[in-house]
Amino acid sequence: MTVAGGTAYLVQRDRVLHAIDDHLHAAVESARVVVTGSGGAESDRAAAAPETAGFTDARTALEAVLARVLPGPRQSAIGILDGAPTYVSALDTDFHLEDDPAFLDRVVAETADGSVRLGTAQSSVGNLRYIAIPIIVQGSDSRGLFVTAYDVDAELAVITTAFTTYAWVALTSLVGIGLVGWYVAGRLLRPIRHLTAAASHITATDLSERIPVAGNDDVSALTATVNDMLGRLDTSITTQQQLLTDVRHELKTPLTIVRGHLELVDATDADDVRATRALVIDELDRMSGLVDEIGLLADSQTSGALQRREVDVADLSEQVFSKASAISNHDWRLAETATVVASVDAGRITQAWLQLADNAAKYSPAGSLIQMGSRLRTANRVEFWVLDEGPGIPEGMEERIFERFGRVDARRGIQGSGLGLAIVAAIAQAHGGTVTLQTSPGGSRFAIDVPTAQDGTPR
Ligand code: ADP
Repeated sequence: MTVAGGTAYLVQRDRVLHAIDDHLHAAVESARVVVTGSGGAESDRAAAAPETAGFTDARTALEAVLARVLPGPRQSAIGILDGAPTYVSALDTDFHLEDDPAFLDRVVAETADGSVRLGTAQSSVGNLRYIAIPIIVQGSDSRGLFVTAYDVDAELAVITTAFTTYAWVALTSLVGIGLVGWYVAGRLLRPIRHLTAAASHITATDLSERIPVAGNDDVSALTATVNDMLGRLDTSITTQQQLLTDVRHELKTPLTIVRGHLELVDATDADDVRATRALVIDELDRMSGLVDEIGLLADSQTSGALQRREVDVADLSEQVFSKASAISNHDWRLAETATVVASVDAGRITQAWLQLADNAAKYSPAGSLIQMGSRLRTANRVEFWVLDEGPGIPEGMEERIFERFGRVDARRGIQGSGLGLAIVAAIAQAHGGTVTLQTSPGGSRFAIDVPTAQDGTPR
């Protein structure tokens, strides 16, 4: 705005100064017409003094010029005869040249050679742009001098006023734009400030809090993403804390048992020492088995750790069945195999499926039939199942057994950590699937149900 205003001011100022000069040159022309009765050639317009024709002396010629060549606004004129200011314009002018004798002396001196003089003077009546036109009549000794001048400052005052107004308007506009910009930027950034405040508050307190999502813009999309992230963090931290609590609880019992027996052992009684040693080693084995399974569970819970590749489900079924059927005391049968290629982590699926087979063998009567199979449940989901003739899961325990350390009482004295089914469920979830259970007092059917492709498209 400053550059635009400044440039426009300078252009306007130049135009005004040119207009003043044009008017002064026109005054020479007018004087010439008055005195000689005809205009001069363009080239000598400002160069030569008008030559009188119809006048007999300079005085009358000067009178005639002053009477005809009238000053406009912010302009003044004077007639000087033989170096002395003699005539002033008949009109009432804004300023009077006769008020500054020093200026008049100067123009008289400047025009002593009889030439027209255009110049600028800083006089006591103002900053003047003037033209001095000698009027010489042949045959007359007296010398006339017609001087007309513009007050440059007064001429420029008009545009100065306009540009002062412009400067004020520009300044006001800038302040206005600044205020509006400040307000709009504040409004745009407010949700981000809220987001920052809410996010830092949440970190400082607990992760269950969520940031309110308002509107439907980029910031609300960011807020929703942050909320999602908080949700995942919350779940993962809660899971870790639960695991820690469960592990502490589960390890406490064997540690108490070990400590109790060691405290009570009679070091002098060899039999007691031997029996306690066996018991303690057994408990410690159980603890190390538990620790291994906790490690397995932690690994299975991270879907990123899966090593998916294209697996022929029929081949996989055959392999797992041959491993499972090595578990003694049961009649094993492979009932069906799905002919499909699935993108799964074959190692993890084998581990989970074998866990189901192991449970079936563990919890069903010796010699009973255990069937296994894989089948295409829908176009894009495959199921790996195990069916036994065991006692089934008591009502109300169907969900509990999938939790960590979830066991149906320590019935029939069967040893177990209660982590097996939790690992199976974690592996199924990591594949984007589930574990299903159909159970009755006549037997149970556990199945791992997973999509055949990671993105869920049918094959
Ligand atoms: P664990 O076998 O180490 O106790 P699991 O998580 O594998 O732990 O099983 C949890 C509980 O589910 C077991 O304690 C058992 O009571 C019950 N269960 C699992 N599989 C079967 C099955 N095939 N038949 C009957 N009960 C089962």
